[in-house]
Amino acid sequence: MSSIQLYDTTLRDGSQKEGVSFSGVDKLNIARKLDELGIHFIEGGWPGSNPKDTEFFAKARSLTLTNAQICVFGSTRRPKTKTEEDTNFTTLVDAGVKIATLVGKSSDLQVTQVLETTLEENLNMITDSIKYLKAQGLTVFLDAEHFFDGFKTNPDYSLRCLTVAVEAGASCLVLCDTNGGTLPDEITLAIEAVKKVTAAPLGIHAHNDSGVALANTLAAVNAGVAQVQGTINGYGERCGNANLCSIIPTLKLKMGIDCVTDAQLAKLTEVSHYVSEAANLVPDASSPYVGGSAFSHKGGLHAAAITKWADAYQHIDPTQVGNQQRVVVSELSGRRNIIYKAKERGLDLPLQGKETQQLLEQIKLLESRGFQYDNAEASFDLLVQRAKPDYQSPFELIDFMVVIEKRRRQPTRKSLEEVLAEAMVKVKVGKEVMHTVAEGNGPVNALDQALRKALLQFYPSLAAVKLVDYKVRILEESIGTESQVRVLIESSDGVEEWRTVGSSTNLIEASWLALADSLEYWLLKHGASGNPPAKN
Ligand SMILES: [Zn+2]
Repeated sequence: MSSIQLYDTTLRDGSQKEGVSFSGVDKLNIARKLDELGIHFIEGGWPGSNPKDTEFFAKARSLTLTNAQICVFGSTRRPKTKTEEDTNFTTLVDAGVKIATLVGKSSDLQVTQVLETTLEENLNMITDSIKYLKAQGLTVFLDAEHFFDGFKTNPDYSLRCLTVAVEAGASCLVLCDTNGGTLPDEITLAIEAVKKVTAAPLGIHAHNDSGVALANTLAAVNAGVAQVQGTINGYGERCGNANLCSIIPTLKLKMGIDCVTDAQLAKLTEVSHYVSEAANLVPDASSPYVGGSAFSHKGGLHAAAITKWADAYQHIDPTQVGNQQRVVVSELSGRRNIIYKAKERGLDLPLQGKETQQLLEQIKLLESRGFQYDNAEASFDLLVQRAKPDYQSPFELIDFMVVIEKRRRQPTRKSLEEVLAEAMVKVKVGKEVMHTVAEGNGPVNALDQALRKALLQFYPSLAAVKLVDYKVRILEESIGTESQVRVLIESSDGVEEWRTVGSSTNLIEASWLALADSLEYWLLKHGASGNPPAKN
């Protein structure tokens, strides 16, 4: 079967999911991950609609991607205006990418009821907008919004929207089931009709409101579309978009379509978890292919059967998608995964050996206490380093104390009270014990300030390190006893970013652990371990 091009819209449609807000750094990191996964097109956002997306395109210029091309998203020009006078088009061109995906209406009712213009004017809008971008040297994909709904009420008009787009120079016609109400057999029939009026490459963009976004996508592939749009974990508004984490392995492993390489497919689970962490959402354990429970067996008959025959209760080999078979009660779960992860980070762990064994035990223990290393590779690296007998930490934490005080201020219009935090830390560097105090606008900020105050005296270059993101999650699994709190910190020195994790029943301690890991990781990487420079 011919190859399929994968188009990801996690950064635009996916971020429409309730409660999801990706930071600028998150968006760039997700783009890198999508590239590693072998995605062909990454929709970066709609710069006309929000400043964060404009910023993304500015920063994306320095991204080096191996597989993917970044696309900018926008809408056809407004009714009764000139394209060159529509400021949205300037922002599309200014995004500095080579591909623009334009959403245009392709349903008669949407044009008359929502756009409140004539059917003819909508055709002109499609034509003018595509021609304008083509003249600026861009490749244009048309997202034919509400195509399948329009095809039911006025098929001739919906098809006409597509043919004018092809005449104007669109390179791909992406048929959208915007409301997610279409069923697979209707998708097939509509695509057959489209193929009678144009030979242009087609795409599918399905929403999951009827729970059949994946089925609709596969039906469209069988009917001959060349481009498949979706999001990681199916994130998207309402019930979400077609889930690339299900589409990709299904195409490759079950339909024989080589849309990504074997090595790229093996990154699927990691990318899925990465994006859920960035969205600050708990990964869905029962997610097909990538969920933590997708290949888990909870004791009993199934577990016994799989020890005789690994495939007895699974539809694929989980390692193909980077997941693992897991017997929930097994003592050995995770071990190969840890070794695999260490290898991936360029750290060689032998399967045997006392230190490796101890490290594995420790990771298991820490994971049971809420630490999670999927998205905190810097903390993982540190664990491995610390397992070496000759490891010397650039600093040692001895103690910390935080005082939080709520002070009544002079009455002002806004607030009568302010919260002040003061942190005291004791840190050992070499033979010297430092004792510093700092204030902050909150306990974590105060700790950060106090720790830096101590370390900067030995490591002035540490001043380059900044915290860029801070995420807190209360782990539900421990409800009933004391809740475990996990803190993920992302840091940057202006050149690279790294992530660390801390977990505790206490938010401040969890933050402290993640914070200390962040600084220790940077110091190790920049050769500060062992011999601290002379105090100046
Ligand atoms: Zn959509």
